[in-house]
Amino acid sequence: MPTPTGPALMEKLVALCKRRGFVFQSSEIYGGINGFWDYGPLGVEVKNNLRDVWWDVMVHNPPTGPDGEEVQIVGLDCSIISHPKVWEASGHLGGFSDPMQTCRQCKRLFRADHASEALAESRWVASFLETADSRRWAEREGRKLAPGLALVRNTQAVLGQAEPPGRAGRLRWAAQTEQMCPECGGDLTEPRQFNLMFETWVGAVRDEENKAYLRPETAQGMFYNFKNVVDSTRVKMPFGICQVGRSFRNEVTPRNFIFRSREFDQMELEFFVHPSDTRRWYEYWRQTRWEWWRSLGLADERLRVREHDRDELAHYAKDSGACCDVEYAFPFSGDKGFTELEGIAYRTDYDLAQHQKVSGTRLEYFDQDRNERYLPHVIEPAAGLTRGLLAVLCEAYTVDESRPSPELMRFHPRLAPIKAGVFPLVNKEGMPEIAERIYKDVRRHIGPAQYDAKQSIGKRYARMDEAGTPYCITIDGQTVTDQTVTVRDRDTGNQVRIEAEQVVEYLQERVGR
Ligand code: ATP
Repeated sequence: MPTPTGPALMEKLVALCKRRGFVFQSSEIYGGINGFWDYGPLGVEVKNNLRDVWWDVMVHNPPTGPDGEEVQIVGLDCSIISHPKVWEASGHLGGFSDPMQTCRQCKRLFRADHASEALAESRWVASFLETADSRRWAEREGRKLAPGLALVRNTQAVLGQAEPPGRAGRLRWAAQTEQMCPECGGDLTEPRQFNLMFETWVGAVRDEENKAYLRPETAQGMFYNFKNVVDSTRVKMPFGICQVGRSFRNEVTPRNFIFRSREFDQMELEFFVHPSDTRRWYEYWRQTRWEWWRSLGLADERLRVREHDRDELAHYAKDSGACCDVEYAFPFSGDKGFTELEGIAYRTDYDLAQHQKVSGTRLEYFDQDRNERYLPHVIEPAAGLTRGLLAVLCEAYTVDESRPSPELMRFHPRLAPIKAGVFPLVNKEGMPEIAERIYKDVRRHIGPAQYDAKQSIGKRYARMDEAGTPYCITIDGQTVTDQTVTVRDRDTGNQVRIEAEQVVEYLQERVGR
């Protein structure tokens, strides 16, 4: 069996993630809570590695910009709850809502722009379209799969009308509406707005005055701290401020594993530039961010950049018209083929101007080189860390039937949760002592390692393959006589013999950044 694709891949991946401790459903022993996930011992390592690589290329070792200078970026870590006026200024209180539809029969909620996609994947639709005998279907499968469907609720009345030919016509006839529920076949209300921000109260009194919100994005922290950063550091235009952290959105339809969650992590950069300098920086970040995802091993054929159509543009990008997404071909991307991994938006001076207006604090920047005072414009590459982790997991999952244990995770070594497995071939004859020494050296100089002396070598390799460990080092009888060990490569299965003394250097060349 080759590596599966589509829903079969997701099923296998979700099972492996649970079995090996990458991702668990939150509060699973209580039946779970929809849209919330926990990252297990292996998952938290991959997630932190992804975050650290991002921080490294943004803050510690930023790339060279289009002006030939090293890009200047500083980091922040802002509170999740901020003054509620932040969300008034940003537009989230007024506009951060999705149009939603409710099913009149089963009362479930759907995002209007997701309902038709969900309908196309719906079990009842597939089952109904397969049958030629609508009456029989309504009395049997229909009762179980689509209790809200007009054909099932009012079989006689619907059958009394002539059944039209063709898939779309038959569906409309069975549902007696254009807007049908993907879950039960009932009819959906007109779309209504639904605010996605989680509310809470600060202090003891639960009234309007003390109402606050869990941040729905990390971006605003960079805007309301803009003046603090300019006043407390030596940054000069153009420069960036970034942060990585939790965001919360009361998503109507959390779905596709960790892709759309209600609590997730973002990695966002706000890059401030002179208003006349926006085009080249927009193009620069578009290219740089796509290359970054590529450098982590996401395959070219599963990665693309798509410019937004004019009618998709977010409120802050309406004037600039420059917005694109880095998209990945997730196994559930369906007919569209690709879904958003990161958004890159030219936000103009929208946010700074809004915060200046609502807070009454001047946020203009004085540019000494130009001898000019202005509100900078912003290019924002906004990536999902947990969504990025899902892309990395999907990309890594591989089935290779030629192996005794066919599932393996081909992580980029920099992202792998365990960098090396260290195995004494047998638990005697001086092997454990040497293995332990190597294991400690690898942990100290390279990163997480796993010492494993249990079961056959084949089983130990298999355990490491599933965890995505790029190298396994075996200490065998020959080691005791000539101080060499074998190093097995996860992807090729090939083994080389090297001096035990050289293990750390060997791994440093292949696992380091
Ligand atoms: P979508 O259209 O998928 O709802 P968005 O365009 O609203 O996303 P942004 O506000 O641009 O997303 O957020 C930047 C990034 O944060 C997204 O590209 C995505 O990677 C991540 N993200 C947004 N919402 C979620 C979520 N509910 N769960 C996980 N990641 C998310």
